[in-house]
Amino acid sequence: MATARVPAPGEDLDGQLRILIELQTLDTKIAGLEGEAARLPQEIARVRAEVDEMRNQVAGTKTKLDAARKDTRAKEKDLDDSQVKRQKFEGQLYQVKTNKEYSAVLTEIEEVKQQKARIEEEILTLMERHERLAGAIKEAEAQLKAAEAQGAAEEKALREKLGAVEADLAVTRSDRAGVARELPVNILADYERLLRGRGGLALAVVTMPNLCSGCRMTITPQRLQELKPQNTLLPCEACGRYLYWPA
Ligand SMILES: [Zn+2]
Repeated sequence: MATARVPAPGEDLDGQLRILIELQTLDTKIAGLEGEAARLPQEIARVRAEVDEMRNQVAGTKTKLDAARKDTRAKEKDLDDSQVKRQKFEGQLYQVKTNKEYSAVLTEIEEVKQQKARIEEEILTLMERHERLAGAIKEAEAQLKAAEAQGAAEEKALREKLGAVEADLAVTRSDRAGVARELPVNILADYERLLRGRGGLALAVVTMPNLCSGCRMTITPQRLQELKPQNTLLPCEACGRYLYWPA
């Protein structure tokens, strides 16, 4: 825990406190901007991933349609083959010698007919599938087009925001460096150690009537008395952050 700092003769503690408060304000702003600068590229990636996902879905449906078309061509070939078979058997009807052979060929012809009906039904089912898939593709492509336009607009806005955040960050870091130079090296080192160790908050204002705003612990009446004149840098006894009186 940091100890109370007794100001050296002529040391302007109130001035130092004002600088520390200013520094804390800038560091809090920098932390927020750094968070934004890290988050925005993830947002951009998320927007892109959503559009990519839709694009993949369209491609997947197109692949299914291609497969269904290929299946249909194969079935149409089967249909041709079955027609050739039937003609062959029908030709045999005129060559057979016995009734037994005749009825055997008729049975073959009946089988080929049934096979043809089955294939035609399968082709019909595939045709219906084509229609459904083609409809789904048309709808998904329209949705994709809208999503691409929306995604591009969102990404543009996010990139502009990121640019603004980065510019603000550069200015704020430069301001911060200027303010930090106004502090004695040892006080700046104490402040930065607290900043790192206490979640980015090295200074805590007193929440009236008697709470540390950093850790919500009650400040003892004695410490409150010491704080009131604000002529020493006093740490919270619980969290070690420098306490200051609200303006
Ligand atoms: Zn505290």
